[in-house]
Amino acid sequence: MDFDKVISRIYNQVKEYWGQGKVADYIPALADINPRQLGIAVHTPDGRSFKAGDTEVPFSIQSISKVFTLSMVLRHTGEELWKSVGREPSGNPFNSLVQLENEKGIPRNPFINAGALVVTDRLISLYPRPKEALIDFVRDLSGTDDVYYDRRVAQSERDNADRNMALAYFMKSFGNIHNDVETLIDVYCHQCSIAMSCADLARSFLVFANRGINPHTGTRILSESQSKRIGAVMATCGFYDESGDFAYRVGLPGKSGVGGGIAAYMPGKLSVAVWSPELNSYGNSLAGIEFFERFTTDIRSSIF
Ligand code: GLU
Repeated sequence: MDFDKVISRIYNQVKEYWGQGKVADYIPALADINPRQLGIAVHTPDGRSFKAGDTEVPFSIQSISKVFTLSMVLRHTGEELWKSVGREPSGNPFNSLVQLENEKGIPRNPFINAGALVVTDRLISLYPRPKEALIDFVRDLSGTDDVYYDRRVAQSERDNADRNMALAYFMKSFGNIHNDVETLIDVYCHQCSIAMSCADLARSFLVFANRGINPHTGTRILSESQSKRIGAVMATCGFYDESGDFAYRVGLPGKSGVGGGIAAYMPGKLSVAVWSPELNSYGNSLAGIEFFERFTTDIRSSIF
């Protein structure tokens, strides 16, 4: 299928949404961005790519990084991980503390902040140099070295990390965080600050479309079952409190971040990433969500 026509048509339609959302401003370094940017990139496992708009501008992937840390940890720990973090939608904001008390320090899923902190804690236990290991992993999946930690964003995250620190200490009191909290928050703030272009982000998600094999190198990164399981968690929990609606309107596993990025994929067929910094009321890219709804409608294909 020639996706060029489809994505350039939708690109023009969803540009109309500029001015109707709001860029994330709870971290100063994120507020400071030109909101009128939109990039769309589609990649296929056989090496074809289709692009429209600002696809080469690096942006902060934020929570999309949670998919990469989960992949790195799950491939080592296997099913054991699910004893420390659940895999159910939370129905609460991404940085909520309330559920954790009732559920004895076991976060609902790896994509809310509490769950991501547990996963990053395990990453620290597994790798002597976790930040280096993570950036190498993302570079390997995207097939480029143009992926980096944005130090300004990382510092801004760190300066505003009180709630994430609270989540980490609270879980530590239940024995569910094993490492020093300062170290954990440092690695977590760095993972959120990963900057890459929308084209590279789409390429990095090909591993899921390709059922666990990195198509650039032919190396198996995840077992087929692990890739399926990560996709299942993306499909049920990947879009904050809009996850059900994303499944309903779009029907693809994916993950969003407050930097305005969304990455998703269709098993066996393609990966796709969109970036546009203005967010809707759920914290997902406004133009991004609108793009995805039109995209799966136009190509008449989804996982359902
Ligand atoms: N850096 C963010 C935080 O933990 C992650 C935000 C996101 O994209 O959900 O506050």
